[in-house]
Amino acid sequence: MDFLQTDIQRIQGLGPKWKALFAEDMDIVTFDDLLQLYPYKYVDRSHIYRICDITNNMPYVQLCGRFLTCELIGTGRQMRMSALFTDGTGQIEIVWFKGLNYVKQQVNTNDEFMLFGKPTAFNGRYNIVHPELERADKAQLSAGTLQPFYNTSERMKKVGLNSKAIQKLMNQLFNVQLQGSVPDTLPRRILEGYHLINRSTALRILHFPQNSRELEQATFRMKFEELFFVQLGILKNRNVNRHKQVGVKLSSVGALLNDFYKNHKPFEPTNAQKRVVKEIWADIQSGHQMNRLIQGDVGSGKTLVALMAMLIMVGNKLQCCMMAPTEILATQHYEGLSAFVRNMPVRIELLTGSTKKKDRTQLLADLAEGKIDILVGTHALIEDTVVYQNLGLAIVDEQHRFGVQQRAKLWGKATIPPHILVMTATPIPRTLAMTVYGDLDVSIIDELPPGRKPVRTEHYFHYKRNNLNQFVYQQLKMGRQVYVVYPLIEESERLDFKNLTEGFEYMKSAFPEFNVCMVHGKMKPEEKDAAMQDFVSGRAHIMVATTVIEVGVNVPNASVMIIESAERFGLSQLHQLRGRVGRGADQSYCILMTSPELGNETRQRMQIMVDSTDGFRIAEADLQLRGPGNIDGTQQSGLPFTLHIADLAKDAQLVAYTREVAEKVLAEDPLLQAPDNQGMVERLKVLNNSSINWSIIS
Ligand code: ADP
Ligand code: MG
Repeated sequence: MDFLQTDIQRIQGLGPKWKALFAEDMDIVTFDDLLQLYPYKYVDRSHIYRICDITNNMPYVQLCGRFLTCELIGTGRQMRMSALFTDGTGQIEIVWFKGLNYVKQQVNTNDEFMLFGKPTAFNGRYNIVHPELERADKAQLSAGTLQPFYNTSERMKKVGLNSKAIQKLMNQLFNVQLQGSVPDTLPRRILEGYHLINRSTALRILHFPQNSRELEQATFRMKFEELFFVQLGILKNRNVNRHKQVGVKLSSVGALLNDFYKNHKPFEPTNAQKRVVKEIWADIQSGHQMNRLIQGDVGSGKTLVALMAMLIMVGNKLQCCMMAPTEILATQHYEGLSAFVRNMPVRIELLTGSTKKKDRTQLLADLAEGKIDILVGTHALIEDTVVYQNLGLAIVDEQHRFGVQQRAKLWGKATIPPHILVMTATPIPRTLAMTVYGDLDVSIIDELPPGRKPVRTEHYFHYKRNNLNQFVYQQLKMGRQVYVVYPLIEESERLDFKNLTEGFEYMKSAFPEFNVCMVHGKMKPEEKDAAMQDFVSGRAHIMVATTVIEVGVNVPNASVMIIESAERFGLSQLHQLRGRVGRGADQSYCILMTSPELGNETRQRMQIMVDSTDGFRIAEADLQLRGPGNIDGTQQSGLPFTLHIADLAKDAQLVAYTREVAEKVLAEDPLLQAPDNQGMVERLKVLNNSSINWSIIS
């Protein structure tokens, strides 16, 4: 077994109690794990500050001087040790609340000491609480180097397992147990080809750096390794799946698509739409099952792409199905697709929870006999009673509402598993998409159809509501419709609900000549659908709603989207909501309502929305501001293994770069069978066992 997989308890000075804390609080069990506990910062211990130079907001400082006094003050829980320290340029108070006996033994007024800590201002004067303390004659050792700081939990600190202790353990591990040498995880040709320093050197530098110059190289090397293995794992897995999974193979796009393209298409597809259709066609020709994700901003025309893919199938005598998360969306898809092929010999049907029993029986019989070409619907489509004659392609719209298991059910609906096309408007940044969607291939529609007027976005404070009402009134008078959206989350559900209903009453009283409807998730489905339908048909002019309207609803006549308490929504969610307007020819508006007291980050988020209508740019910004775990729609997905040093948001370029390197390696050896690659295979195994399960990635 790999020596690095040894239990950390073998390290001298590390007993069972620490071992347990490492495992529970830090997920650290083996030598390997501990080596990957990288310092979160380094402090230059070669510099000695003068007390007279201390100012506000200083980081850790190192002082050299003598104690003038040291006395115990207060009683009971207030008891503390207070000392006055001077270096000749000034004096500073040093305070200890814990370990007072120990401090008493250490501190004297004769010796010179080195102090290391963070000065804080208290009552207009500076003090340092619980500094590190060493006699100056003994402290020489750490001069001239950078001191690493390690994260530890509160529980660990309580038992003395602090950064300093970890530094000592690291020394035992790296320099004693491992004798400063660990095997490399990357083959020599990669180290040389990409100018990487070897693993031993990189780890030595990261844990025992001499200067900041060498740190850069070492950090790069370990980030490269981490991101490279993530990509290698994902791409290799994909290759394995591809080799295993045959798919329906077609050799011609068929007459139907050609007919549509020549005679029936209502508009010229954008270049992005054409490119994505070509990518789909390449998959279908390959003989392997397609598992492709289409990412396209709201309004980018994913439906047309879906239709063209389906026409290829239908032209080859295969059936297709298209699933949407809600009945309204399924109905809209059904109507939209039917309109596209109105004059073509294609039979499209709709199946939802509210399809009448009689119609349903007939429909299912026709489907089984192959008389239906395209079946559009909700979850009803994957029920066991739904049997196809020869399902070739399944399309899933807005995938984050469908679980992996539900998708897997689709596979069982044909002898050769159908090709799968997943569509989402959640614009996940490319770098993240590469990673979180695992073995799905990603196609991006990064172009909107021509002639769209971008939605104008404005940020309003609550107290300007009167101005806003005048504007809304003008829009309503022009025949437009208006959305008003309120946040509703479980934690503050009661209050949110009150805001929503008050908002509803308010709009009714502010616009008495117009009809206002209300939609929220707690309504019975029939009631909800009825209220939605009121708005879709134009009977209601204003819709007050929670985010239930987020996905997909298409009301081209709606021109104003007012988002209340906009600060409580994520950027991607705001972008989705905004996508509900701007679907027609008219200029549309999005109003972000917030309170005037906003934090810096919130202000920035509102500004990004005002400045940009590009979903990808917004998603990138969201990633920068909030980190990958928080991007809407990606919470359930995860990386195959934890990143210890790299950061998907900050190291986006390196993600792309390592992806290319992994692609090159796999181009030569798709299943990693060559002897020279076995070291990497071993490393992948270790990484996979060490944390998250591959299967959670869709
Ligand atoms: P989404 O990607 O949000 O699902 P849709 O497929 O609903 O977008 O398309 C949005 C609107 O744009 C629809 O009205 C559709 O007919 C129209 N559309 C799609 N592609 C084009 C195109 N190439 N040229 C003009 N209009 C288009
Ligand atoms: Mg759509």
